[in-house]
Amino acid sequence: MDTVIVGAGFAGVSTAYHLARRGAHGVLVVEKEAAPGMHASGRNAGLLRQSSDDPEIAALLQRGARAARRALRDVPGSIRRTGSLIVGRGISRLAAGPNARVLDASEIVKGLEGSALFDPDDAVVDPQALLQIFVEGARSRGVTFRFGERVTAVRTARGGIEGVETTKRKIAARTLVVAAGAWAGEVAELAGSDGIAIEPRRRHLFRGGIDRPEGRSWPFVWNEEKGVYFRPEGDGMLLSPCDAEPHAPAEPEVDPARRDELARKVADVFGMLGEWRLGPGWACLRTFAKDGRFVIGPDPRVKGLFWVGALGGHGMTSAWAVGRLAAQVILGRRAPGPFDPRRFEAR
Ligand SMILES: Cc1cc2nc3c(=O)[nH]c(=O)nc-3n(C[C@H](O)[C@H](O)[C@H](O)COP(=O)(O)OP(=O)(O)OC[C@H]3O[C@@H](n4cnc5c(N)ncnc54)[C@H](O)[C@@H]3O)c2cc1C
Repeated sequence: MDTVIVGAGFAGVSTAYHLARRGAHGVLVVEKEAAPGMHASGRNAGLLRQSSDDPEIAALLQRGARAARRALRDVPGSIRRTGSLIVGRGISRLAAGPNARVLDASEIVKGLEGSALFDPDDAVVDPQALLQIFVEGARSRGVTFRFGERVTAVRTARGGIEGVETTKRKIAARTLVVAAGAWAGEVAELAGSDGIAIEPRRRHLFRGGIDRPEGRSWPFVWNEEKGVYFRPEGDGMLLSPCDAEPHAPAEPEVDPARRDELARKVADVFGMLGEWRLGPGWACLRTFAKDGRFVIGPDPRVKGLFWVGALGGHGMTSAWAVGRLAAQVILGRRAPGPFDPRRFEAR
């Protein structure tokens, strides 16, 4: 192979897709699980949200969201143009989509107090449907996928990548792309890179509901100041207490204390909308670099090693744009700019 990509989450499949679109041959994606998106990518909240307080990330979010809306248009049931309402102090800091505007929250959700940033183009999407578009697009252009196979070792010589070993075989490759989400640090370490600290953090999502029939047509509502959000989900809602506790790269368990925390926050912040009920939930890991920015580009130390990760809470919305940037950088056609992993080496 020319290029091995470790991980079939959004980072890996989008990079594979964009490499193949640019004519790259010999691209292989290796995924330890039996299918794509078994971790953060397939189990996130599905919010296509374009705003961020980091303008460089916001630019990728807007490009990614545009592409996702286009791609999902013809996949029945995969996208709902709900719009978004971001409330709480600090909304003026956000770089947002071209049609976002500040208004009184009650104009959109009756009873909700305060001013809000409303983006009519934000949406709720099915993460698995979006992942599949990248997987099928990559496959049809010649990318190979190997599922149920974990990368266990990386072979290097003269400071460069020579190949990988998996639980099933040895594979020669000159380029290795670490798109391993919460496990990115571990995989990069196998190649002898240890200069970039990646921190996985656990986040919970819970099912719930409120007795307001019109709630089904509400946008997703996020109070960033208090750290809590909800979005319509079938007959009910999906909610998060926006927890961000550091966690080892592993399958996280659900902590019942987070459900209690969510109940308190919901009563405090959204109690004016009515009586809420909360049901079961799940947890998975978001992954961050020290400065909160994505990490896309060449490793500072190991030749042929590339990072595509630390996508925090934005990896689904930005996926298309992240993979495009990564592919251009890997092919030597563009500089990684603000996402360059070498920024950590300079300090
Ligand atoms: C609760 C929650 C809610 C979120 N909500 C949103 C949202 O609403 N909107 C949004 O845009 N983003 C959201 N995110 C963020 C988004 O899900 C992530 O940024 C994105 O999925 C990260 O993708 P990834 O490919 O980097 O990582 P992952 O999806 O974790 O993929 C990495 C893959 O690498 C594989 N792997 C690891 N090590 C190896 C190895 N040694 N060999 C082979 N394979 C390996 C793993 O099995 C995994 O499948 C949310 C995240 C969480 C946790």
